[in-house]
Amino acid sequence: MDDRQFRNAMGKFATGVTVVATEVDGNVYGMTANAFMSVSLQPKLVVISIAEKAQMLEKIKQSGTFSVNILAAEQKELSMIFAGQLKEHRDVEFEHLGKIPVIPGAIAQITCEVSAAHVEGDHTLFIGKVTNIQLEDGEPLIYYSGKYRKLENDD
Ligand code: FAD
Repeated sequence: MDDRQFRNAMGKFATGVTVVATEVDGNVYGMTANAFMSVSLQPKLVVISIAEKAQMLEKIKQSGTFSVNILAAEQKELSMIFAGQLKEHRDVEFEHLGKIPVIPGAIAQITCEVSAAHVEGDHTLFIGKVTNIQLEDGEPLIYYSGKYRKLENDD
């Protein structure tokens, strides 16, 4: 099986889009990620999957904390910024929830402490113990088959 077929198959799974953010020595780092899911209710745990080549991997190991920011439909540009899809650097304002940086306008800001890290193949799964949540009304940004989409009402 070739890599392209695997990627195409995984791309058939429509997801939301998040920006994972963390802070080390006063510097904030963000990375677009859709490999995110809820793991447990008691205790409240989530998981993210970070590629071994991503700068974000070392940053999360250093800080031991991260936020997952579920992007709103109108935040496609932020997704592109933090996926390295835009050529030029853009300044992005972060807020803080507790001491962890979060993205203003995200429909959910979820802050976590790393409770475990599992290396699997070329990615590391970080299990995050949820420390705080802030929600905002709004529609989500969707990612499907390598393209950004918006939700459509079925009525
Ligand atoms: P960098 O390449 O250093 O950073 C990424 C970009 O963010 C750079 O352009 C940088 O300038 C910018 N940036 C970082 N911090 C700031 C800041 N404070 N202010 C302004 N700009 C900043 N990869 C995974 O490992 N796991 C996933 O689940 C995943 N899901 C993805 C989902 C989608 C929809 C997309 C498009 C990509 C996904 N990726 C995922 C790929 C990942 O987003 C890119 O490979 C990313 O460029 C890796 O970032 P990095 O940590 O190496 O950091």
